[in-house]
Amino acid sequence: MKQGLFLVVSAPSGAGKSSICQGLLDICPQLNFSVSYTSRPPRPQEVNGKDYHFISRENFLQRVKRGEFVEWVESFGHLYGTSRKTVDKYLQTGKDLLLDLEPRGAKKIKKIYRGGVFVFVLPPSRDDFLKRLKKRGHESEEVIQARLAQAESELKEISWYTYVIFNKDLKEAVKQLHSIYIAEKCRKEILSDEIKKFMQK
Ligand code: 5GP
Repeated sequence: MKQGLFLVVSAPSGAGKSSICQGLLDICPQLNFSVSYTSRPPRPQEVNGKDYHFISRENFLQRVKRGEFVEWVESFGHLYGTSRKTVDKYLQTGKDLLLDLEPRGAKKIKKIYRGGVFVFVLPPSRDDFLKRLKKRGHESEEVIQARLAQAESELKEISWYTYVIFNKDLKEAVKQLHSIYIAEKCRKEILSDEIKKFMQK
């Protein structure tokens, strides 16, 4: 069966990951986005069923009990989980899936499934990163410090990712992610069925 590809993108808060992912989805209609479930309330502009499936904490925990998530985490008091149904559906049909996950979830996916590509997005510099973090909203110094601490610990996870994108310019960053995706689709492991077919005399 044709094998789909899992493109997993992670980034510390404020690196511009969502815009890069959206940019890629806009130019790759064959790529599907794994819409996670979350107990976090929606932000303005966020659409239920497109950005996330927004559900209550209780609903989320019931789904955990029923084994509906391939991975889930708690981050800043909110729960986030990847739907097993979504992942299985794409795996079975050999379609490509884009997942926007923090590193703990990404690592779990790496352990469970083969054929994953792991990309870490970084802001152009540490100074810029701090600026972006502070610009995010009207957050208290305490929250900003907590985000910073989390970001520092996430940065250590770069070691096991395959690719890094410095988000200096959105267009360029989308181009880089697109290039990674295109190149990974040419891996012989991904194309093994097509190659076998071609080789048959
Ligand atoms: P935000 O609340 O800013 O949308 O997301 C916070 C973090 O949760 C981001 O790093 C995002 O990548 C991550 N995230 C979103 N959905 C999931 C998920 O299903 N699983 C995991 N492990 N992380 C997720």
